Amino acid sequence: MNDFDGQVALVTGGSRGIGRACCLAFARRGAKVAINYAGNEAAASETARLVAEAGAEAKLLRFDVADPAAAAGAVDELVKAWGRLDVLVNNAGVAIDGLLLRLREDDLRRQLAVNVEGAFWLAKAAARPMMKQRKGAIVNLSSVVGEMGNAGQSAYAATKAALFGLTKSLARELASRNIRVNAVAPGFIDTDMTSGIPEAQRQKMLEMIPAGRLGSADEVARVVSFLASEDAAYVTGEILRVNGGMYM
Ligand code: NAP
Repeated sequence: MNDFDGQVALVTGGSRGIGRACCLAFARRGAKVAINYAGNEAAASETARLVAEAGAEAKLLRFDVADPAAAAGAVDELVKAWGRLDVLVNNAGVAIDGLLLRLREDDLRRQLAVNVEGAFWLAKAAARPMMKQRKGAIVNLSSVVGEMGNAGQSAYAATKAALFGLTKSLARELASRNIRVNAVAPGFIDTDMTSGIPEAQRQKMLEMIPAGRLGSADEVARVVSFLASEDAAYVTGEILRVNGGMYM
């Protein structure tokens, strides 16, 4: 399926996990893929290699999504090089878990800066070329905990809930320019982010999932690429849950 032929997709946090799977999903569907990452050179290079193996062009963009000037500069550089920007996936995220009384000021601020401000700055930078083209799709990676909450993740869950407001507001603001904005809310997905969860807690979480298993990064990426594709041409402002029934 080459329905993204001639299109350019930018995936933040594309070096690992769900972001890498998104890069590969777009590459397989014919898009050129820009892979943003924070600092893990080896993982980012491996994603670029896999994108090339899938027959697509790859470009590595190292910057901190929480830095508005860096985000704007990277999008400019990308549009200069490849002439357009069709898809933005705001996937980069950090989770700093802890009970309320243990979380420090820095923990909250960093999660807000990366998870919320990062998505905001990237959407702002991407909206300009997308408006010019009168075409674009933005997909924000939220989380099941943004809807249902989770003890020990109050700050993280707050940042993921904030993305619902951002998604719906931008969907309303940009629809007339043919730019769609949606969110995906994954459940418990098998990536580096969840690999450190203690076994007892893991078992408890599995009991909450009717499907009885963790989801894969690829299963999330397929939904992300669906939302960015013409198959979802009349879908905007939606939150699509990918959670094996964990929350309905
Ligand atoms: P992950 O395996 O921990 O990977 C995080 C990615 O984000 C990496 O590519 C990392 O780059 C990048 N990143 C982190 N901070 C960044 C920054 N400041 N600037 C640019 N890139 C940055 O995460 P994941 O599990 O794939 O999760 C991806 C997204 O899905 C996140 O938004 C997460 O909150 C959300 N999500 C995950 C789950 C889950 O169960 N895994 C569930 C719901 C939602 P480096 O490699 O350079 O460090």
